[in-house]
Amino acid sequence: MSKNILITGATRGIGRAITEKLLAEGCTVYGVYKASAEQAGKLSAKYDDRITLLQADLAKPEQIDQLVEKLSDVKLDGIVNNAGIVYLTKWEEFNFNEWDETLAVNLTAPLKLIHKLRDNLKDGGSIVNIASVDGYCAAFDTVAYAASKAALMNVTKSLAAILGPRGIRVNAVAPGWVETEMTAGTMPDESKELTPLRRNATPQDVAGVVNFLLSNQSNFVSGETITVDGGLTVVDFTLYKESQRES
Ligand code: NAP
Repeated sequence: MSKNILITGATRGIGRAITEKLLAEGCTVYGVYKASAEQAGKLSAKYDDRITLLQADLAKPEQIDQLVEKLSDVKLDGIVNNAGIVYLTKWEEFNFNEWDETLAVNLTAPLKLIHKLRDNLKDGGSIVNIASVDGYCAAFDTVAYAASKAALMNVTKSLAAILGPRGIRVNAVAPGWVETEMTAGTMPDESKELTPLRRNATPQDVAGVVNFLLSNQSNFVSGETITVDGGLTVVDFTLYKESQRES
């Protein structure tokens, strides 16, 4: 598929895997990064004329405007809202600066990009928002993150309804535990044991599903969130523990 795709958080972790998958599929990628200038440089050198990397802090409204301005002449077949942040904070230390920043990057920026680029996006295009299984359930130390991802899944449904008449599909992907810098140091040891497939996700596991949602293989899928968690969220922890009892 020869398509122009915009992807945020394009140079690290899951976004990097999505970028490389789309490049391998023959797409032209417009990738956004915030601080990973070194990784951006390496990607540019490797893929040369098929990737354009643009620096923007998506927490800052004026930088979103500047980014949109840089893309003003680009016709897009797809947008992947992948950039995201998480703060782990105890309830006693809950602070609303972190709440505001988390919602700005994880929720407001994806919506703003889609709204401001709506005329750049071709009819028949596809949008993929990277949510999280955290958006399905209660959070302890990541209340803002879980709320942002739950809201992003709802926004995905609304935009599927609003943009559907233009043939534009809008879907989300909700990964479970993926081994990236975001989870390094915080991923519980039990994550593999509690996952039916007995491993954590790789960034490539997520990239494959994003590629499917951008492709014609998913032509009639819209408003959906596809969970990519190896079965983690279909397991009830108490039933699993019951099955582990001595008989
Ligand atoms: P990561 O390794 O921490 O990478 C985060 C990416 O987001 C980086 O590319 C970073 O850009 C970009 N970013 C962060 N803040 C930004 C800002 N203010 N402006 C622009 N870009 C910004 O995380 P990841 O694990 O790949 O996560 C990617 C997405 O998957 C996120 O939305 C995350 O919530 C979601 N997710 C991850 C997991 C998991 O287990 N890892 C699970 C479920 C969902 P720079 O490198 O340039 O700073």
